[in-house]
Amino acid sequence: MSASRTAPSEDMRAAHLTGPMQLEVRQIPTPQPPPGGALLKVRSIGLCGSDINRIRHTTSGETRVLGHEVVGEIVSIDNTDVDFRPGERLAVGHVHVPCMHCVYCRHGAPAMCRHFKNIRIQPGGYAEYIALTPDHLAHSVLRLPDRVSDGAATFIDPLACCLRALDLGRVQAFDRVVVVGAGIMGLLFVQLLRELRAENFVIDISSHRLDVAKQFGAQHTTGSSGAGLADEILSRTDGQGADLVLFTYLNKQILTDALAYARDGSRLCVFAPPIESLDLHIDFFEFFRREMRMYSSYSSSMQDLETALQWIASGRVDVEAMITGRTDLEGMLKTVEELDDTQLKVIVEP
Ligand SMILES: [Zn+2]
Ligand SMILES: [Zn+2]
Repeated sequence: MSASRTAPSEDMRAAHLTGPMQLEVRQIPTPQPPPGGALLKVRSIGLCGSDINRIRHTTSGETRVLGHEVVGEIVSIDNTDVDFRPGERLAVGHVHVPCMHCVYCRHGAPAMCRHFKNIRIQPGGYAEYIALTPDHLAHSVLRLPDRVSDGAATFIDPLACCLRALDLGRVQAFDRVVVVGAGIMGLLFVQLLRELRAENFVIDISSHRLDVAKQFGAQHTTGSSGAGLADEILSRTDGQGADLVLFTYLNKQILTDALAYARDGSRLCVFAPPIESLDLHIDFFEFFRREMRMYSSYSSSMQDLETALQWIASGRVDVEAMITGRTDLEGMLKTVEELDDTQLKVIVEP
């Protein structure tokens, strides 16, 4: 079936990153989806922390259109294998598509798939329209129920990443979990931990962010580090220490601190890249003796994305309250320039 709703004009706007803090909205041809694909009108897209970082510090000489937390409406579709129609709203779970049958895909790590990055949306999410491939339609998009708003649906991808990290960390009710960093990811973790009945401790240097974290269910908050932090966490956990530590922000001091307040047999999750090179001495004799487990969690699976949509649709995780700003493509650069710790999630409506 080939169906279409409104034919887009030939050109469209897209925000091109041309260098650090250089974002140009250019007119480019509306992308043509490949056979079996679909054209999506972008309704909302999350301004992700990873994109903000790239906008600020890109070292790539290439001009690119970033953006991956896409929610859009089908304009036209040419595919009889899937049951999507023009006018329906979709969340694009991943802008890349795994092959679904290699060793990584078969063992629950689709983001490690060597083919993952071969397929992408065109031209990138910060645009009026994007082209989806048939692989996207088969393996990476989710149909949105009416009760989930466009803005809320942009959180499916980040929430799915959090769900994966908790799953890999085997979190259980009554676990005592430290969340390092009260940014978007930290606040999503806090809400999930609250609902999973795990006890949470949130660490951030911003007292404003810690206040916000309390509104989302943070039980213990602190801005300390070093020995003071270890004392605080040990005294609140009967001297045992944390069961699980989630690093949404990581440097040498933070990791060193965690090794002091995490209990023997605990899990440490590297959820974000370190902000500096971590040429750190770890006493592996102690690491072995204490039966510590360190793991990383990167991206998510299709199942995590589906679960994330259910959490959002159920209202158990309130993502609407995390939206503190909206802008269009032209306003993105100013938004990035003016970001401070009072802003949580900004939604771009192209
Ligand atoms: Zn993101
Ligand atoms: Zn694969």
